[in-house]
Amino acid sequence: MSKDVLLYSGGMDSLIAWYYLQEPSTMYVDLGHKYAHKEKQAINLLPPSPVTFESNYGKAFEEDDAHIAGRNFYLAMYAAACGNDVIWLVTQAGEQNVPDRTPEFYEKSSQALTLIFGRVVELRNVFPVLHKHEMVRWYLGSGHPDVYLRVAWSCYNPPDNGALECGACGACFRKYIALEYSDVDTTGLFAHDIHQWGLVNYVSRLNEYPWQRVEAIVKVYLKHSERNLGKLFSFAPMRFGVGNPQGWE
Ligand SMILES: [Zn+2]
Repeated sequence: MSKDVLLYSGGMDSLIAWYYLQEPSTMYVDLGHKYAHKEKQAINLLPPSPVTFESNYGKAFEEDDAHIAGRNFYLAMYAAACGNDVIWLVTQAGEQNVPDRTPEFYEKSSQALTLIFGRVVELRNVFPVLHKHEMVRWYLGSGHPDVYLRVAWSCYNPPDNGALECGACGACFRKYIALEYSDVDTTGLFAHDIHQWGLVNYVSRLNEYPWQRVEAIVKVYLKHSERNLGKLFSFAPMRFGVGNPQGWE
């Protein structure tokens, strides 16, 4: 019988995956990265109880923007070394354009792990076709509590002094959009007002995103139309009036 494990972080994505896969075994590796203590706080408050390891890989190689090159393969190595045959990882649709999140990465990592460990090992993506807001919609639609989504930790750049997520990094923005899309209250969740910087950084770049993400972002900003409608339309003619934006076909 094959042994399965979900690579878990205490974040919203892997928490939803845990429910989606019907509560499999989980593994967390503390890489010594700068937001690991926040992940561990969230893990202590959430239902999954992962097997936990400690490593200095993230402390050694974390970049200024919190990217850790090779992270996902390193985590898969840990899971394979523990005897797991099927290793589940989350890289949802719309976020599969970096080297260790692509479909090719899953395929070739499975081949490499099988070669290295001398048995069939599969690295599988839990959500190859769902976007983050669609994952949240599935989670809530299945009757799981929204409070866990607020507790889960996603921020790459937590403020030094508090329990809040920063509200000023890409992970916070994606979480905000996914929660607000399903009308989960985000009041008090983020240290910075996402409206203040999210418009400049994301609405002006809508043509870079697949239409599902564009739809989610626009829906959330229209929902908060009193604050944002004027700003949104000041960008719209500039971005949608020329050519055929990528991902809109
Ligand atoms: Zn953040």
